Amino acid sequence: MVYNQKKNTDLPFYERLNRYLHTLQFQFPDTYPSETITPPPWTVKLPDCNKSLIRFNKTETNQTIIKKNFHQIMSHFQEYNHIYTDASNTENGTAAAFTTASGYNSCHKLSKASSVFSGELTAILKALEYTRSHDNGKTVIITDSLSAVTAISQLYPSHPILILIKKELHHLQQQNKTTHFVRVPSQMDEIADRLARDATDIDELHTITRTAKFDLKQIFKEMIINAWQAEWNLSKSKLAEVKKTVLPRKIYSLERKQQTIVTRLRLGHTRITHSHLIDKTQEPTCEICHCPLTVKHILIECEAYNRHRKLHGFPSTLAELLKEGCNPSQLIDYLTDIGSVNEI
Ligand SMILES: [Zn+2]
Repeated sequence: MVYNQKKNTDLPFYERLNRYLHTLQFQFPDTYPSETITPPPWTVKLPDCNKSLIRFNKTETNQTIIKKNFHQIMSHFQEYNHIYTDASNTENGTAAAFTTASGYNSCHKLSKASSVFSGELTAILKALEYTRSHDNGKTVIITDSLSAVTAISQLYPSHPILILIKKELHHLQQQNKTTHFVRVPSQMDEIADRLARDATDIDELHTITRTAKFDLKQIFKEMIINAWQAEWNLSKSKLAEVKKTVLPRKIYSLERKQQTIVTRLRLGHTRITHSHLIDKTQEPTCEICHCPLTVKHILIECEAYNRHRKLHGFPSTLAELLKEGCNPSQLIDYLTDIGSVNEI
């Protein structure tokens, strides 16, 4: 390979990624192929989606009112075949299900990497495939997924399952079959929800091994965070002593001066402990203990300030004292008492 001979050449992204995934022992799952041939958008009629129940706040509105409005909507679809679709996610994985008014139930267990959104789309896709061969030509699909119903109306979808739905709708259209969608609040379609949950525990159901590439993003994110965390756990930096996780820190609204003091203490780099690097003088030592002067020594170890620490209710470890969301006033009062607040 060319890049093996040229030492200064960066490896191609693909090669770097492959090596990284190899070190993480990641096995690529079977994914949906990228669809290149899709029906021209002007030939596929956008499906009719009724989202009017969205106007009801599900926590504040009486269930009876929502149900009454739902039945009013459904009264327009009396001659239609009703299919409920749903998906759920438990620790065992994601499952998709649909159930027809005539009692036909179908459950699909998805790969562990699949998101609930992919589950919702899969349930709709399977319902559409079912209608192609079974229904009387008119179908209404009832789902609680607002994101799925919204996505179905996209003119140029990129999610692979969404593209398959688009194709399926095109086939149905060519067969002169009508498909409508009604979005209901999540607590209304309890039947399909129960089916979907059971599917995660029973193995004799249909299993879909393919994963949408979109869902791998979350897996990659988790893998990267885990690898970074493992590296951070071995770090000897001063910040690692008080910040145990690599996840972003929460932002607390502090005054500028408080923010500066807390951040410098957490990093372990202050004027009193590190200015010798700039001044090119000797490393400072504690006048009482004659040991190197560090933030940890000032805040936790120096016996000369035991009384002050007790007075300000300091915990016994630096990690506890400088944890995220620590009390800046407690630190500043202590530093003022020992005469070091202006040296941070
Ligand atoms: Zn000391």
